[in-house]
Amino acid sequence: DCAEISLKDINQLASTSFPLCMRHLFGKLREDHHLKHQGRMQLGLFLKGVGLKLEDALAFWRAEFSQKVGAERFDKEYAYSIRHNYGKEGKRTDYTPYSCQKIIMSTPSTGDHHGCPYRHFSEENLRAALNKMGVGGRAMDDIMDKVRNRHYQLACTLTFEATHGTSCETGINHPNQYFVESRKFFE
Ligand code: SF4
Repeated sequence: DCAEISLKDINQLASTSFPLCMRHLFGKLREDHHLKHQGRMQLGLFLKGVGLKLEDALAFWRAEFSQKVGAERFDKEYAYSIRHNYGKEGKRTDYTPYSCQKIIMSTPSTGDHHGCPYRHFSEENLRAALNKMGVGGRAMDDIMDKVRNRHYQLACTLTFEATHGTSCETGINHPNQYFVESRKFFE
């Protein structure tokens, strides 16, 4: 039901079409070559949802983690959970990507990078992250206003609109929906 994405396009797609929660996890993974369990789940299932095939997912995570823990340890300790996300291990449940509601309700602690930035970042960090996406001025004020009123998904919708220069009438309720709407816009 969804298109495949290729590993070579992933950086490009992250910078144009990932919502802020996934952009953040993706950036931290590239920077630290590591993510904790909940972060791996949130990003890993999202990537599965956007069409990254299992073989590419393994190559993607392996390329990062092997820089930190070595390829052997990756294969031993981490590859299993990636296959697990794709329903290839354990109970063979085909896990579905997390919705905004689930992500917003999660409780990241220090050193965790999962969660929803609109809900879990400090105002200063959120402003900096939005700035990096090219959001400023009036749009920034409107987004921060939604955040103060705890309308995190509306804040995300306004970010989508500001960065795509188009309206998003359905609103954002799922990171994978954000991605699909963005691809529709660019294609
Ligand atoms: Fe991600 Fe949803 Fe938060 Fe947007 S509102 S950053 S898609 S969890």
